[in-house]
Amino acid sequence: MKRKTILLHVCCAPCMIFPLEQLRVRNFEVGGFFYNPNIQPKEELLKRKTNVLAYSNRTDCAMFFDKNEDSEQFFAAFEGKLDGPERCHTCWYLRLKKTAEHAKKINVDYFSTTLLVSPYQDGEKIRDIGQKVAGETGVDFHYENFSSGYQRAVQISRLEDMYRQKYCGCNLSFEQSQAAKKKKNKT
Ligand code: SF4
Repeated sequence: MKRKTILLHVCCAPCMIFPLEQLRVRNFEVGGFFYNPNIQPKEELLKRKTNVLAYSNRTDCAMFFDKNEDSEQFFAAFEGKLDGPERCHTCWYLRLKKTAEHAKKINVDYFSTTLLVSPYQDGEKIRDIGQKVAGETGVDFHYENFSSGYQRAVQISRLEDMYRQKYCGCNLSFEQSQAAKKKKNKT
């Protein structure tokens, strides 16, 4: 029987560890897709991308890298939704849409995302957005709550000395993480 194929949107190498393992256990043939123009500045994007490339080589996972990395252009499409939860929802939607479109182009059965690993993201909202994108593109979304593998991914990424970022991706999330750090240091 032909194995099911899946294109996994990858946000960073540590978050790739558990979904890749799980999807392979479920007998999916997995390819990765890196499309994250939300990551600022460019140097940070390059660090995460380099680590994803190294990890995908080590785990023998075919990776596709979208060439469009212009964060200004990416955020210009937000139509004013630059604050509050809608900012992240739009960010997830645009990245998942691009992933599903690429899956369709290369004739892959399903798409999913490593964003479902993080306990800091709203997994149910990501699921809803994935399902919306599936309806728009005709490519099935594989939803799975990967957050049970978060701690394991942290341990492995430490053991393997992987680059682990301190903030989600955009400049605003960097500022928020800095403010939270300052607050913590004061207490
Ligand atoms: S905080 Fe993360 S998900 Fe939200 S807009 Fe910024 S990069 Fe995107």
